[in-house]
Amino acid sequence: MSEILVLVEQVEGEVKKVTLELLTLARTLGTPAAVWAGPGITAEAKARLAEYGADKIYVAGSSDLVDHVVAPKAELLAQLVTSASAAAVLVAATAEGKEIAGRLAIKTDSGVITDAVGLGEGFVADQSIFGGGVNVHSKVRKGTPIVAVRPNSTAPVPAAGAGVEEEVSLTLSDAAKATRVVERVKQEKGARPELTEAAIVVSGGRGVGSAENFSVIEGLADALGAAVGASRAATDAGWYPHQFQVGQTGKTVSPQLYIAAGISGAIQHRAGMQTAKTIVAINKDPEAPIFELADYGVVGDLHQVVPQLTEEVNKRK
Ligand SMILES: Cc1cc2nc3c(=O)[nH]c(=O)nc-3n(C[C@H](O)[C@H](O)[C@H](O)COP(=O)(O)OP(=O)(O)OC[C@H]3O[C@@H](n4cnc5c(N)ncnc54)[C@H](O)[C@@H]3O)c2cc1C
Repeated sequence: MSEILVLVEQVEGEVKKVTLELLTLARTLGTPAAVWAGPGITAEAKARLAEYGADKIYVAGSSDLVDHVVAPKAELLAQLVTSASAAAVLVAATAEGKEIAGRLAIKTDSGVITDAVGLGEGFVADQSIFGGGVNVHSKVRKGTPIVAVRPNSTAPVPAAGAGVEEEVSLTLSDAAKATRVVERVKQEKGARPELTEAAIVVSGGRGVGSAENFSVIEGLADALGAAVGASRAATDAGWYPHQFQVGQTGKTVSPQLYIAAGISGAIQHRAGMQTAKTIVAINKDPEAPIFELADYGVVGDLHQVVPQLTEEVNKRK
């Protein structure tokens, strides 16, 4: 079977969950080949990639791949698309992944699909658009399909691959080195999972009422081992940092469980969470649009409902 290239997302040598999801997806369509871009691959990382089905691991260890912004990774993938006659390329639908996908499409004269939530036979991708109201099935008709898949769209399932390592030497164009990373600032990371990768997200909206009240949302999130999200109304009010905003102009999440508390369900909010597998809404207004989307709804004051829910979850631990 033809190779399906999967661009590895990693932080300090640790393979991110989305890569394991992409490998799982790639296995259903061909032979997964992981592409490691940059120095620092570890034995653990290789073992993890093989564990989830990577038959081959292309390792391009040049520091140019991380010293310059996105363009070198697009050149690396373009080189591999040709040399490996790849059947498709999968990247994570993150800001970086989508930019790489777009650049790669230009370089290989191929079609690109972004924000896919599924990928089936013949590389037909599923996308969920217009606030989840429309499901689109699309297919690339030109070149090598390049698909950016949203994190949490597929459950990662281990199935050992050979994990044969192949070193890739890369000659980058000057254009790819035009922008250079001059500094990296480490973001303070709490104990909670990263918002876009979390299996459970608990979000609060205007109904939370104040910055202090967000401790109610955080309490439930911590009981569930979840990430905290917020609507734009809440972030614009300064109640929660903007980096946690979910929606059209915020982050896109696709968790197994999304709990929306005090959020009305505006289309711009839905755009960032509609592909969650199960949606629970807590809202005191039974007419709130979020209930149209929710799998389970609780009509009530979140300040009463959420602490009770937290208590119940904690009791069962
Ligand atoms: C270009 C553009 C981009 C945007 N991007 C985003 C985006 O990325 N993300 C985003 O979220 N929004 C975005 N918005 C804003 C969006 O249109 C809504 O204004 C916003 O989502 C509303 O947030 P909310 O649901 O928290 O507030 P509201 O719409 O005010 O809803 C608050 C809800 O809380 C309920 N409530 C109040 N008190 C309680 C209580 N005690 N207990 C339970 N329920 C209670 C109310 O019944 C109500 O349903 C965007 C808008 C535009 C124009």
